[in-house]
Amino acid sequence: MKKVLICNRGEIAIRVAMAVRELGHTAVGFWTDNEKEPAHLEYCDQWVHLKGSNNTETYLNMDQIVDIIKEHKIDAVHPGYGFLSENTTFSKRLEDLGVIFIGPHAEAIHKMGDKAISKQMAKDAGVPVVPGSTGEIDSADEAATIAKDIGYPVLLKAVAGGGGKGMRVCMSEDELSKNFEAVRREALSSFGNPGVLVEKFILNPHHIEVQIIADRKGNVFHCFERECSVQRRHQKIVEEAPSPFIGTDEELRSNICETAVKLAKAVNYNSAGTVEFIMGEDKSFYFLEMNTRIQVEHPITEEITGVDLVANMVKSALGDDFDFSSQDEIKIQGHAIECRICAEDPVSMLPAPGLINGFETTFGQGIRFDHCIYNGLEIKPDFDPMIGKLIAKGHSRQVAIRKVSNALDNLNIEGIKVNTELHKVILREENFVAGNYTTNYISEIQPQNKVEENLSDEKIVETLLATEFNMANESVL
Ligand code: ADP
Ligand code: ADP
Ligand code: MG
Repeated sequence: MKKVLICNRGEIAIRVAMAVRELGHTAVGFWTDNEKEPAHLEYCDQWVHLKGSNNTETYLNMDQIVDIIKEHKIDAVHPGYGFLSENTTFSKRLEDLGVIFIGPHAEAIHKMGDKAISKQMAKDAGVPVVPGSTGEIDSADEAATIAKDIGYPVLLKAVAGGGGKGMRVCMSEDELSKNFEAVRREALSSFGNPGVLVEKFILNPHHIEVQIIADRKGNVFHCFERECSVQRRHQKIVEEAPSPFIGTDEELRSNICETAVKLAKAVNYNSAGTVEFIMGEDKSFYFLEMNTRIQVEHPITEEITGVDLVANMVKSALGDDFDFSSQDEIKIQGHAIECRICAEDPVSMLPAPGLINGFETTFGQGIRFDHCIYNGLEIKPDFDPMIGKLIAKGHSRQVAIRKVSNALDNLNIEGIKVNTELHKVILREENFVAGNYTTNYISEIQPQNKVEENLSDEKIVETLLATEFNMANESVL
């Protein structure tokens, strides 16, 4: 039995704590002065106070966390996503202490965490990469030379970027020279690394990623793909598995999944991770990046394959056997969709913190809600606005859409603005329903502008139902 410290908060801390306890280990959670009664503590066996008033002093404070690890004799650490999950220094410090990091080895985090190094690694492994510079570029002139070669539009990208930040599309040489220094400055201030690369901006693309789970004995498995093309500000909001764009093209599916495995093997990957690709209209795909951690949208893969990714990630780190022993045992069954529930205005799609003063949910068959919500929870601007993930699994894509739409109707969060209405519009919209959408979906369709309309439609339906009810009652009377 191991003592596992969860260096995170919110829904992922709950998800990890549940897996840790299910496996018979002890889950240790943090609380901070910034969130006195976080929901995850209920799922932990022990609680430790992380001192400080902001994330730099708490969740990102390696010195304090290392002291806690020593004091509480922690055996293993799960970093969740965000915070220290992809920090090589942190994983190395744990290694030096003889503490297990529930994630890949430090070198994989280092190599895959840098978009330039990982692109070179992918190229060396024979994995297709987006045309453009493989390494960092030092000047606007160098970027312009490459851009001339590959053709506009191009994308300037911070090599250390993440969370959809640090990217700019340039339509012309003029825009490229104007943006170059700005992207470098932003990259330095946001990620502490000014490195930038330039690559072809793929038009009308699909974001398709492959889930990897590898053990410490050299076995690398994939759990098929997810499509995450519904994005705002390059951040995902709706994800589904399997990809409707790949559809029934089993050759393409197996090709992209095997390509991801090939890359994971090339870095001796030994944990859960995701290889992200961008796929063009012609179905050619290119490596984008590898996320060396558990990902937000992992539940949809769990739902269609039955593989518990978090539990097996813990098992991998502890050197235990997986729940399965061959790739053939992992199969796609049905379809799953996830809606990221965010404390944000459904129209502006901007964070809207506040106090939750009502919370009620009743879900039917096929619904999973991974969240950290309770009545009385204060949503603070210090943290990511994502407070939950509503996941539906259905026999088919159509059934999954129906189930998640119905679940959204039954999700009542009062006191703050939540993006549920935006999700309802998307799930009804014809292109989404047809599975015919790209990463341009939000900007082209602008579902956010149909939220008000949708709300008034719902009001009309409610009024009609109420009238029918009254009429029925009257006739009974
Ligand atoms: P995923 O890749 O798991 O689908 P995201 O890319 O949105 O999801 O990232 C997961 C979480 O980590 C989000 O809360 C996001 O805000 C945060 N995050 C990821 N990378 C960074 C980064 N480099 N800097 C700050 N936050 C990040
Ligand atoms: P992050 O680390 O922020 O997640 P990614 O490289 O994964 O960065 O890119 C995030 C999103 O930006 C992708 O899902 C895609 O929508 C878009 N994107 C990234 N690179 C390209 C590209 N070369 N062409 C078109 N879109 C891209
Ligand atoms: Mg990404």
